Amino acid sequence: MSFLSRLGIESVNNGTWIGSKSYSWEHREYLKSISPIDDSVIAEVSWSSDDQYEEVVEEAQKAFIAWRKVPAPQRGEIVRQIGESLRKHKEDLGRLVSLENGKILQEGMGEVQEMIDICDFAVGQSRQLYGFTMQSEREEHRLYDQYHPLGPVGIISAFNFPVAVWSWNTMIAAVCGNVMIWKPSEKTPLTAIACQKIASDVMKKNDMPEGVFNLVIGDASIGDRMAGDTRLPLISATGSTRMGKSVGPRVASRLGKSILELGGNNAIIVTEHADIEMAVRATVFGAVGTAGQRCTSTRRLIVQSSVFEKVKKRLLEVYEKITIGNPLEEGTLVGPLIDRQAVENMQNALSELKKQGGEILYGGEPLDSGEYPSANYVRPALCQAKNEYPIVQEETFAPILYLIPYETLDDAIAMHNGVDQGLSSAIFTLNLREAERFLSATGSDCGIANVNIGTSGAEIGGAFGGEKETGGGRESGSDAWKSYMRRQTNTINWSTEMPLAQGIRFDV
Ligand code: NAD
Repeated sequence: MSFLSRLGIESVNNGTWIGSKSYSWEHREYLKSISPIDDSVIAEVSWSSDDQYEEVVEEAQKAFIAWRKVPAPQRGEIVRQIGESLRKHKEDLGRLVSLENGKILQEGMGEVQEMIDICDFAVGQSRQLYGFTMQSEREEHRLYDQYHPLGPVGIISAFNFPVAVWSWNTMIAAVCGNVMIWKPSEKTPLTAIACQKIASDVMKKNDMPEGVFNLVIGDASIGDRMAGDTRLPLISATGSTRMGKSVGPRVASRLGKSILELGGNNAIIVTEHADIEMAVRATVFGAVGTAGQRCTSTRRLIVQSSVFEKVKKRLLEVYEKITIGNPLEEGTLVGPLIDRQAVENMQNALSELKKQGGEILYGGEPLDSGEYPSANYVRPALCQAKNEYPIVQEETFAPILYLIPYETLDDAIAMHNGVDQGLSSAIFTLNLREAERFLSATGSDCGIANVNIGTSGAEIGGAFGGEKETGGGRESGSDAWKSYMRRQTNTINWSTEMPLAQGIRFDV
């Protein structure tokens, strides 16, 4: 039995899914799921038509009526079972993530582990949807706040974390009592179908409405439709800043809520007090891990001039040893980029860098000589640059690391914050003053700021997201759950009087 059939996705064309009733098989349009490993077509997946979208939203609305009444800890129990199923399918789903997205198997498995972790977190959260109790200024009055679910939540996700981003949103939103409509990236529809299968099977086993977890397949046009749909009170959108600049105003124009998780341009500062070996290890994972296709990938390394040459030399030594190849093979550290367009974008960025005065110190070339199974492979690039170069100011979604020297910590922080994005950041130093300065209000302006840990590889327990053009949204742990609920303030008068707040007298 192949891992695809163990995931149950070989047989999805059976007409039993919500939204698959109303249209004929002959008129389906198909989207190809293409593996960047060798450009082979893994599967053809049908697009969701406008009618199907309508059907899915209607089913979701119906399911919400029932799901919001299920006590939160029981909703947590459903999420626990999804977590169990993910544990069972970890190997297969992790492999499918690698196959469809091109990340190495270790990271494919890691992504599924992240899903399991957020399920566990959400189970605990389901008993902790706390509001405050406040002291009323009036006698014999009680004042408190509580949280209620919002309704159908639209989730738009990117290709680079094809399944984890869904789970961060979905598992928390589900225990909060919402129903979810997910539009995955058009580049990774198959992993989405596998997740949908897992969630649907658990719902069926528990006799729960299937319309709690929903999937629609398509490109930006269906995402745009969701952004404008007043039946979806919250849109959580993960992807490029370009996408966020379209989705954000569209949702805002109907006064809906949005969680925007957009691009990053993440930097590490390495001071003269750093443990250089630790800094190099973290930088290499941050810059070349997932082939530089993480929102938290390290793109800029801002290094104190007295240790600049040492850091550069160590990085050059390590970059030469990086193994590039089939991500499903043991020992590979860097797999392919998502597609040929991504390779071209990287090449364009590198030629811009040279035009703007920068230098490529190592790598950067496409590996399209025939030795690799597709033309999507590149050698990670190590470059020297200035922070103000326009190309350094942009997020290029590829393994390019810009080395930038600095003199004073003030200069380093100014450069660090001198970009439009504000997702993840780090400082490597063993000096307490430097570390505290970086974490203070006058330090990093990012949503994530680390000391002696790189920019990528966040744990699910913290709130995840960033500032400025990263969109300001927060997902996953801490109190991010509050974005998926509406807060209600309640005042109960158990006295026999009718006193007004602020002591106002209004005698009738
Ligand atoms: P993308 O913006 O091209 O697409 C992301 C999703 O948005 C896809 O599902 C796409 O179909 C949809 N979409 C695109 N334009 C839209 C529009 N105008 N209206 C509605 N939907 C639209 O991004 P990508 O190439 O898939 O992913 C890479 C980007 O995502 C990078 O910029 C990366 O930094 C970012 N990202 C951010 C986070 C985060 O948490 N901050 C996490 C992962 C990825």
